[in-house]
Amino acid sequence: MQTQILGLVTPLMALFFAATFAVMWRVGRMKRHVLGFGIAFALSAIGFLFTHFLPADAFYIFHVTQVFYALGSTVMIASVCERAGQRLHLGSFAFVYLITALLLAAAIGFSNDVASRLVIVNMGYGVMFAMGVTTLLTARRRSLIDVAIIAVMAFQATDFLVRPSLTLLFEQSIPAEVYRDSVYYSLIGLVLGVKGMTTAVVLIGATIAEWNKTLRESSDHDVLTGLLNRGAFEQSMRSLLPRAQTEGRPLSLVVVDIDHFKQVNDIWGHQAGDQAISSFGELVQQMVRGCDVAGRIGGEEFCIAVWNCENDPAERLAERIRQSFARLEHAGLNPDIRLTASFGVATAREGETYERLFARSDKALYRAKSNGRDRVENAEKQRLEDTEPKSGLKPIQLKRAAAGRSIEL
Ligand code: GH3
Ligand code: MG
Ligand code: MG
Repeated sequence: MQTQILGLVTPLMALFFAATFAVMWRVGRMKRHVLGFGIAFALSAIGFLFTHFLPADAFYIFHVTQVFYALGSTVMIASVCERAGQRLHLGSFAFVYLITALLLAAAIGFSNDVASRLVIVNMGYGVMFAMGVTTLLTARRRSLIDVAIIAVMAFQATDFLVRPSLTLLFEQSIPAEVYRDSVYYSLIGLVLGVKGMTTAVVLIGATIAEWNKTLRESSDHDVLTGLLNRGAFEQSMRSLLPRAQTEGRPLSLVVVDIDHFKQVNDIWGHQAGDQAISSFGELVQQMVRGCDVAGRIGGEEFCIAVWNCENDPAERLAERIRQSFARLEHAGLNPDIRLTASFGVATAREGETYERLFARSDKALYRAKSNGRDRVENAEKQRLEDTEPKSGLKPIQLKRAAAGRSIEL
C-alpha cells in the first residue's frame, strides 16, 4: 500500500507541472514551446502511471510505457531547442527511436530479464538528450537561464547513459515478475522525481523570465511604430549618457518632426496619418544600428540616440533618413504625394544632461522648420544668421513627387 502511494508521487508531480505550464502558456499568451513543456510533462505522467498500474509481467508494458516516455522526451527536447531558436533534427531522432525499438523487441523476445531492456531504452534516451544538448550548444543566445537549461538537459543525458549500467552492477539480473521489488525500481522512482523537479524548476524560471520580458517590452514600446515610447526612451538616455561619458564614447541625438502633419490628418484622415507614422518608425528601425536607441516621443516626433557616433556621421545618418523618407510612398495618401520631415542633431558635451542635450537638438530642429523644413540642422554647426529664429514659418507645403515640385495647399 505504502509503495503504491509513494509510486503516485512522481506522476502527480508531473501532472502538476503539466498544468502549471499549460496555465502559463494560456494566461501569459506565451509561445508554443511553453505549451510543449506542459505536453512533455503530461506524456511522462501518463508513462509513469502505466508503469505503476499495469501488470508488471504484461508483455506489452514496455512498449506502452516507452511510447509515452519517448514522446514526452522528444516533445521536451524539441521545445527546449525551439525556445533557444534552434531546430531539432527530428529525422535523427526517429532513427534513434527505431534502433532502440528494434533492439528492445529483440531483447524482449530473447529473455525474460528486464536488465538488458533497461540498458537499451535508457541508452536511447541518453542519446536523444545528448543530441538536444549539442543542438542547444549551437545557439547564439547564452544567458544564465540558457546555461541552466543546458545543464539540466546534460544531467538527463548523463543519468540515462550511466545510471542503468551502474545499478545493474549491483543487481545483475531482474526477472520481469520481480521488477517492482528490485533496487533498480525503487531507485528510479527517486531519480525520476529529482530529475523531473529540477527540470521543471529551471523551465518554470525560464518561462517566468520570458513572461516578464514580454510584459516589460510591451509597456516600453509604442504600439504604432514598435519604437520605444517617450518614458522608456528617456530612461535609456539617462543610462546611455553616463555610460558614454565613462567609456569616453561620443553620443549624438537626432530629433525629428514630420512636416505639416496636421494637414495629412485633415486631408487624408487620421488613419492615413497613423500609417505614415508607422512607416516612419519602420524606416528608422531599418536604418539605425542595433546599438542605437530610437523612440517615438510625441505624435509625429521621434528621437534617435546614435551610440558611439561623432557629430558628422550622426548628421549624415539624419540626412540619409530624411532622403529615404522623402522618397517613401504612403498608402492612403495620393500616390504622387510624398511627406517630409525636419531634423535637429546635437552631440553630447562633457557632463551634459539629457534635458540640455535634447533642448539643443530641439532648437536645431526648430531652425530646420523655420529655414523651410525637409532639412537637417546641426546644433554644433550653428551659423551666425541662425542664432535667432526667423520671424514666421514658411507657407504650408506638401511635396508632390511626380512633378518634383512643392504645392501649396
Ligand atoms: P510642422 O511642419 O510645423 O511640424 O507642422 P505640423 O502640422 O506637423 O505641426 P505639429 O507638429 O505641431 O502637429 C502635429 C500633428 O500631428 C497634430 C496632430 O493632429 C497630429 N498627430 C499627433 N499624434 C498623432 C497620431 O498618433 N496619429 C495621427 N494620425 N496624427 C497625430
Ligand atoms: Mg510635432
Ligand atoms: Mg510636425
